[in-house]
Amino acid sequence: MPIFEYICQECQHEFETLVFGRDQAKCPKCQSKKLNPQLSVFAVSAKSAAASTAPTGACGSCGDSRGPGACSIGDLD
Ligand SMILES: [Zn+2]
Repeated sequence: MPIFEYICQECQHEFETLVFGRDQAKCPKCQSKKLNPQLSVFAVSAKSAAASTAPTGACGSCGDSRGPGACSIGDLD
């Protein structure tokens, strides 16, 4: 689920929102679409988790047989 975090350029309001496809996120406070995208909390925690468990480097380049990025998913079977 693509969760993005933004800071509104108009009112400096910080918020997180789901973005589907090409939908344009907008500020829930002032409806502005002038937003500064931030790294999502999910993306940051996934990266740090991958860094601690995958010494070979970035997801997608570790050669995991389950596919690109599978090394950071863990066992979901
Ligand atoms: Zn705003």
